[in-house]
Amino acid sequence: MIEQSVIDRIRTANNIIDVINTYLPLRKAGSNYKACCPFHDEKTASFTVSERKQIFKCFGCGKSGNVITFVRDYEHISFYEALKKLGKRTGINIEFSEGGKHVPAEKELIYSAYEAANDFFRENFKENESVGKKFLRERMLSAETAEKFSLGYALNSYGGLRNYLFKKGINPEIMKKTGLFGGNNGNEYDIFRNRIIFPIHGKNSKICAFGGRIVSPDQQGGKYINSPTTSIYTKGNELYGFYHTKYDIAKMKEVIICEGYMDFLRVFENGITNCCAALGTALTDKQIAIISRFTENMIIMFDGDKAGTKAAIRAASNVIRLGFNGKIVELPEGEDPDSFLKHNSADNLKSLAENSLSLPEFLFKNINLGINVKDKLAMLTETLNQITDEISRELFANETAELFKVSVKSLLATSRNQSKKPYIYDVDFKERDRNIEEKYLLKAIINNTENIDHIIKEIDESFFFSEKYAKIFKFFVENHKKIADISQIFGNENVNIDKKIIAELSVEESENIETDKVIAQLKLRKLKHELNDVNRKIIKDPENIEYYVIKKNIQKKLREFSNTVVKKSLF
Ligand code: ZN
Repeated sequence: MIEQSVIDRIRTANNIIDVINTYLPLRKAGSNYKACCPFHDEKTASFTVSERKQIFKCFGCGKSGNVITFVRDYEHISFYEALKKLGKRTGINIEFSEGGKHVPAEKELIYSAYEAANDFFRENFKENESVGKKFLRERMLSAETAEKFSLGYALNSYGGLRNYLFKKGINPEIMKKTGLFGGNNGNEYDIFRNRIIFPIHGKNSKICAFGGRIVSPDQQGGKYINSPTTSIYTKGNELYGFYHTKYDIAKMKEVIICEGYMDFLRVFENGITNCCAALGTALTDKQIAIISRFTENMIIMFDGDKAGTKAAIRAASNVIRLGFNGKIVELPEGEDPDSFLKHNSADNLKSLAENSLSLPEFLFKNINLGINVKDKLAMLTETLNQITDEISRELFANETAELFKVSVKSLLATSRNQSKKPYIYDVDFKERDRNIEEKYLLKAIINNTENIDHIIKEIDESFFFSEKYAKIFKFFVENHKKIADISQIFGNENVNIDKKIIAELSVEESENIETDKVIAQLKLRKLKHELNDVNRKIIKDPENIEYYVIKKNIQKKLREFSNTVVKKSLF
């Protein structure tokens, strides 16, 4: 656990002006500094930073915080990661007994080998104008875009990269582990030869793999080849371009997901910067999880051929199943985003994205898929079956029923009759968000313990799904009269709650938390939970009338609630 004093030390050692300036240019305005807000889309600067108070506040979207929460929210990393980063910046090294992961030395060495390899490829790209410039001209890409995404060129040589890395002092054992070389020893010859190189950046923004595209059509090997799986790269765990575009994605509250490198680069080149590429046709759960930390609205823009269309349906269905909004862009038959932009404007593509279709709409409209209506409905009910959120389920069922002219009842019945394959979530979906209301409520209490009298009239421990948070809540309910100053619970071994969380919640600048809204959210969530519960009982014992009465009551309360609570009101 991290001592409050360490957090304080790190906070005071990092001047908020210097730190924010490394992310976005601040200009002096009176005694404060201003910039266009990185957390919402705006044209006039309402994002204000006070050097004296060491806090920031946006008068447009209301977001505020200190240097640590800025780094946390801007980078979309955890509080601890932000702390670590700022600690490193000012030479304050903290050992984390929890939460902090130490990167093993070997991985660091592999990352440096990739970094060095990219330097080599970039140099080649600039020096071999007949390749580099020609590629950019033919693919209609600017030098700026090439620079931004560090495009490179692998020489037409078996030993170019190998010799370069040797000269740079990279250990042959590490070279083996990069997966960039072939031969029995795994470090005998370059596998990327005479190819344009697209570096893939991982979540830590470091290069973890390369993609290579042939330079001439008569070249041997596949059109594209990729780095193999290594200790720093697993296919399907990364998204191309995302490290660069994630801030725009968060700001625009929407992402456009393409299939490959070229689609991404051309879309980006055309000023559509809230995009990324899945690097393959399957959009994996892991990738969706990564995106979901920045936006819930995911627009699939895959190729307009049969394979692309089928993949897009599967991708959208995955997005929906995991509880997010998935839509599909309808590209003209045979076009991909890259080819489309050759004879259409960026605005044309934007309007296609704006008019993207929901999954039921897309299936209903697409008659060329070679799938009959019954199979389409089977696909939709399968997706329906896996949506866990009751309200989303109902909305999806209503839309499908209306389009295909079937009854909601039969749709829901079919879906429930399908054998429910329990879906095991292997990734931490919205780990930050799942219990955000609980967190907000605790924050309200910690910031002002007087809030608690009002809160306990409405809410008890049973509204908390997180055990950790429930324990903290209980602690405050029982002890709030005794606590004069939050800092007193630190270092007190008799207080057996997660103080890490308390520290986080008390260090965060307090945004205006509307306690009543948070309480309403918690009540709504509990009702949904109860509904799921009774539904499960009905499936088990459909003859028991009592359950239907309970269900009806819950649904009634839910409807009343949905009318008064705007789902996203907290953000
Ligand atoms: Zn703002």
